[in-house]
Amino acid sequence: MEDIIKLLPDHVANQIAAGEVVQRPASVVKELLENAIDAGADLIKLIVKDGGKTLIQVVDNGSGMSETDARLSFERHATSKISCAEDLFNLDTKGFRGEALASIAAIAHVDMHTRTESSETGTYIKIEGSKIVAQEVVATPKGTSISVKNLFFNIPARRNFLKSNQVELRHITDEFHRVALVHPHIEFHFYNNGSEIFNLPKAKHRQRITHVFGGRMKDRLVPVNEETEVVRISGFVCKPEFAKKSRGEQFFFANNRFIKSPYLHHAVVAAFEGLIKSDTYPGYFLYLDVDPASIDINIHPTKTEVKFDDENTLYAIIRSTIKHSLGQFNVAPILDFEHNPNLDTPYAFKGKEAVIPNVMVDASFNPFQEVSNKSVGRSLYQKPNTKGWENLYEGLETLVNTDDFSSLEIESETGVQGTFYSEDDEDASSGITFQLRRKYIVSTIKSGMLVINQNRAHERILFEKFLGEITVKEGISQQMLFPLELPFSHQDRTILKEMKESLSNVGFMFDTLDHETVKVTGVPLAVAESGIGTVLDRLIADYKEGFEGSEISQAELLAKTLAKNLAVRTGEALDQGSQLALVNDLFGCKEPTLSPFQKITYTIISEGDIEKKLN
Ligand code: ADP
Ligand code: MG
Repeated sequence: MEDIIKLLPDHVANQIAAGEVVQRPASVVKELLENAIDAGADLIKLIVKDGGKTLIQVVDNGSGMSETDARLSFERHATSKISCAEDLFNLDTKGFRGEALASIAAIAHVDMHTRTESSETGTYIKIEGSKIVAQEVVATPKGTSISVKNLFFNIPARRNFLKSNQVELRHITDEFHRVALVHPHIEFHFYNNGSEIFNLPKAKHRQRITHVFGGRMKDRLVPVNEETEVVRISGFVCKPEFAKKSRGEQFFFANNRFIKSPYLHHAVVAAFEGLIKSDTYPGYFLYLDVDPASIDINIHPTKTEVKFDDENTLYAIIRSTIKHSLGQFNVAPILDFEHNPNLDTPYAFKGKEAVIPNVMVDASFNPFQEVSNKSVGRSLYQKPNTKGWENLYEGLETLVNTDDFSSLEIESETGVQGTFYSEDDEDASSGITFQLRRKYIVSTIKSGMLVINQNRAHERILFEKFLGEITVKEGISQQMLFPLELPFSHQDRTILKEMKESLSNVGFMFDTLDHETVKVTGVPLAVAESGIGTVLDRLIADYKEGFEGSEISQAELLAKTLAKNLAVRTGEALDQGSQLALVNDLFGCKEPTLSPFQKITYTIISEGDIEKKLN
């Protein structure tokens, strides 16, 4: 048989290898920024167009390259950063594989201008799909400027696979954050489609974090510092009250390199135990310095996953250091290891004032008055300041009121039965509801007992309400007497702008101002002024995540987030009127059986079930 094995030509090999290094425009950004840093630059400009699909340019004032180096830099395994295997264990540069430029040049049009300090003239190189198409001697400032155009021009499948410009820009921004946060002594400018979106002057770590994430970070950061034999830790954690439901502001850097480590993340979360709700994540910016020989950054081609020699020790140190910081800055209550957690105030009551129990008689209550089927606003569900006490009377209340309510035949007259009750339940409503464990609304129907999960049911109701408002644009906005100015980072303001139309349809009125501020002038009826910031934060977080995931529409995402954040929760007491309205509104929904998050909203325990049990 003939010999059939051939060596692949370089440009083909490069193209294949490029797949590993360059997944999307953000990967190019990361490599170029890292090269600029390795070159010792203290001023770096990042310029992108169309989410990096059309152009990614990085300009630095670093060392620059000689003419020969400029050419060589595009060769595979051409690097100035290591020369022997031992160097691998003593890395102080970001790059070392000598693959990035070769890979990028294989799948894009690249222009490079570069000049060293000692040389009068610089070099210009133009390279397309690994082929040098031009090289000239040029006048150019000291340093290097590399433009990467038409990424994946020769791999249409990869190009088509890219997400929208917005999503790609978000990935780029994430990479930019990771680099900028760890190099506060470098000045960064970031331009997108001609406008400057980040201008980060040289600063200290704390200022850099606030420059990147917006002014409101300033009061949230608690410093963390510790020096042991194995590790030096510095940086900040965010105060527990600013823990968020979504990931995003969690950063670990090891030896000035952004890393991902679920294990160490867990150590931070463990330090916050008892201070934050279990479904929220604390923000943190932690810089670890360890002996370079004790970490292996080589296990993943994109180099964010690392392996530490002694992870268990590191875990323990991180956890106790953060605990200590939280205690020292009076953020945690006390560091008392004898402390009996059973005596703690439950989370939901933390920071709330004790309320004096007062038994109220609602003089205006008229049991014959119809309970509106349409108003699902929160006001209906809010009880006055008896919160926390009425459960003492819960059973009692129902007993006492039973008689009054048995005459409440209102529902059968308002035509709700068609939706509320199934065929054989026709005239079943007694109009009696009661709340069980502040979690369920229980009512009777002819075939048995109806048990509704109040939180899920209300989510469903609000979801359909908001979705309707967004589509028909009829949300009612409550105008604010004094507009509220809230600080948001640039990225967050961009997201708010993107959602502006849908948001205004549900009643959110705002203007995004310059200088990190959003001015809110109106909110949906269901949103309390004190909750505006939180609701917008969650919206932004969900929006960021939603776009990564399924092809969910903006309207649906918005309706879901609002529903999730504004629905009555487990643990909230509901008055009789609110309970009834909830039941009616639920069965007025298009899809009453499931919450917008696909959880079952209610169940019916049939008379048969009950009889079986009592047999
Ligand atoms: P690596 O960074 O792993 O060495 P790259 O392909 O990213 O590999 O870069 C190859 C080489 O090109 C680097 O080792 C460096 O010598 C040179 N180089 C790349 N970018 C720059 C830059 N912005 N300034 C100076 N030299 C650079
Ligand atoms: Mg590199």
